[in-house]
Amino acid sequence: MQQLNATQIKKSFINTSRREVEKITLPPNLAEIEWAELDYFGWADAKIPQRAYIVVPVDDVPRGLMLRAVPMAKSQAMCSWCEDLHETTGVRMFTAKKAGPSGRNGNSLGTLIHGNFECSEIVRNPPRAVEGHNDFEAHVSMRVDKLNERATSFVKRVLGEK
Ligand SMILES: [Zn+2]
Repeated sequence: MQQLNATQIKKSFINTSRREVEKITLPPNLAEIEWAELDYFGWADAKIPQRAYIVVPVDDVPRGLMLRAVPMAKSQAMCSWCEDLHETTGVRMFTAKKAGPSGRNGNSLGTLIHGNFECSEIVRNPPRAVEGHNDFEAHVSMRVDKLNERATSFVKRVLGEK
């Protein structure tokens, strides 16, 4: 994804009030992030417990989501974004308030995501034995595409576009 600065990130949010945006704590090292290696940018708020954020480029426009981590009964789950079969620990359930009036009326959507937001790194890992051993690059590029599709699709659902 394209590099983003603090202003662009704060302007990207689609399911927050202006007051909530003012309270967002951004990660300290935005300039050092390898943006080109990311399909989405996610982080936990250092000051607000259970609060996290994800910015996803949708048709080249950054769209930010405010998320809330909710307790899960299971300690392992498949991440709905990268769908990695092996990295099933550290996956957390998050809810995103829907954009606009729907969200203000209390509607939200849940999703399972790696709690450290490392899906972009995971899909670029070398394939394990049974997966894609014939063509590593095609395998990774397919996984990257799928991750982008799933991230975009979730944002569109939050926006109420599908
Ligand atoms: Zn993941």
